[in-house]
Amino acid sequence: MRSSRVLDLILPQRCAGCATPLTAWCPTCARSLGAPVPVARPGLTSAYALGRYEGAARRAVLAYKERGRRELATHLGAALAAALPSIRAGPVVLIPAPSRPTAARARGGQHMAAVAHRCAAAVRATGQWASVVPALRLDPRAADSVGLDAPARAANLLGRLRPDPRHRPPPDIPAVLLDDVITTGATATACVSALRSTGVPVAAVLALTTAG
Ligand SMILES: [Zn+2]
Repeated sequence: MRSSRVLDLILPQRCAGCATPLTAWCPTCARSLGAPVPVARPGLTSAYALGRYEGAARRAVLAYKERGRRELATHLGAALAAALPSIRAGPVVLIPAPSRPTAARARGGQHMAAVAHRCAAAVRATGQWASVVPALRLDPRAADSVGLDAPARAANLLGRLRPDPRHRPPPDIPAVLLDDVITTGATATACVSALRSTGVPVAAVLALTTAG
């Protein structure tokens, strides 16, 4: 266990964005994940992000993903849920972007699936219908995409994303893909393509943050 994670367990909870004590995610930092803004990337349509991958938003994503701050899933899911109505009204199926199995094991689970479940719970609390369908999985052979340029990242992902036959979204309900960061857009584009190849159209891509 890394020392930073040990400290996170010992010290009182602090805001993942600004280290204010006794809160996981303070109201000021929460504003860094606000109204959805369109994200333009080649080959990607109807993509949105709640904030830039910088400052408090970036620190929160990293704390959640890499530093074991699992309680942030509730806050990140709520931020996505608040944004959904302006992108897609009515019932919605949420499809989390998958992580590699080794990365998921190191993080204690598929991190975007946990956020998606919190998002669905927040949507249902408003009286709307929402469900999570983990319709995609990533083949263990997929290499870590860190450091790869856009074409290499796309090549790494395309063909390694597999629709999960155990989890098929219901027809006729719009599907929204959820991800943490849109950088080149290669991951989201590959996910949309993989879903489309099995007859699942993706109405929109909604990410917590965008970089680049
Ligand atoms: Zn804060």
